[in-house]
Amino acid sequence: MKDIRELYLEELKQEIAALGEKAFRAEQIFSWLHEKGAASFDEMTNLSLALREKLAGQFEIGSVRVRTVQESALDGTRKYLLELSDGNLIESVLMRYHYGCSVCVSTQVGCRMGCAFCASTVEGMVRNLSASEILGEIYEIERDLGEKVTHCVLMGSGEPMDNYDEVVRFLRLLGAQKGHHMSMRNITVSTCGLPDGIRRFSQENLPVTLALSLHAADDETRKKLMPVAKRYPLSEVLRACDAYFERTGRRVSYEYAVVGGVNDNEAEALKLAALLKGKNAHVNLIPVNPVTERHFTRPDRTEIEAFQKILVKHGINATIRRELGSDIDGACGQLRRKYIREE
Ligand code: SAH
Repeated sequence: MKDIRELYLEELKQEIAALGEKAFRAEQIFSWLHEKGAASFDEMTNLSLALREKLAGQFEIGSVRVRTVQESALDGTRKYLLELSDGNLIESVLMRYHYGCSVCVSTQVGCRMGCAFCASTVEGMVRNLSASEILGEIYEIERDLGEKVTHCVLMGSGEPMDNYDEVVRFLRLLGAQKGHHMSMRNITVSTCGLPDGIRRFSQENLPVTLALSLHAADDETRKKLMPVAKRYPLSEVLRACDAYFERTGRRVSYEYAVVGGVNDNEAEALKLAALLKGKNAHVNLIPVNPVTERHFTRPDRTEIEAFQKILVKHGINATIRRELGSDIDGACGQLRRKYIREE
């Protein structure tokens, strides 16, 4: 069955016309799905029972159900374990800021990029999420909270550029004026750096913030952390990011997980400053988070601050990422694909 939450309003209008229904019904349904976050046709109470039954016979609404929620005692961050219609489980994280609520969404079940420090990739990739399922992560969390989510980061499990079409469809649907209408400026898409994807993405007219997972200032060090660096040299990846900036006018954010003994010394900081010199860049330093299967160490706070100071001294805008949800394994790189068997 076709997933109705996956359709743009124009596509939905065509489907509704094909069913012999009036055009305004499409807007009502679109609003139920994307503004009110309806997860079933039964909720669409301004439609006749006959129409709701007809829709249920033709379409499905990709099922994303809350299985468990863990809440951080430190900062109120909530980590959701969500179940998809085929039984796959994914994780999403709700973070509270003074400016609103932000959801960190997964874009794939697992991930195949293989970054050495990341939990999401430990068991490889199972499948792509559909646009409807990615939307479902946000809408289910909103239902659970009884609050609107204002911001979104594509920084959960999965590589957005490895699921390009569904991710772009998700972004357009999330921003649709007659739907959720989230501002593209409140969205960050994070990528491990697939240049073709980045270049294509810059043409989509979606003014989101692009975040590049850089993590090293030279190819040798980057290859130790990220297999993707063996395929694409930094020069090519950075050229694609420059093109993104030129095309969209949006400052690119560079993520740098600071890993003890690998990329955290003064020489690395100087190399990084030189690499980004002259770019309209923002560096986000992420103290590497512990992952059971990985044995990377996190430098002391004072060492990370020293690293930051070097960047700032050389004219590079740099901040240290505030950690949220660290007591519930909700921080960057700790989300994973999970199997839970019930007896
Ligand atoms: N596939 C996308 C989204 C991944 S998660 C990407 O690679 O950008 C978002 C960020 O968390 C990425 O920068 C990722 O490299 C980083 N990350 C992964 N594992 C981490 C860990 N253990 N500690 C700190 N950051 C981590």
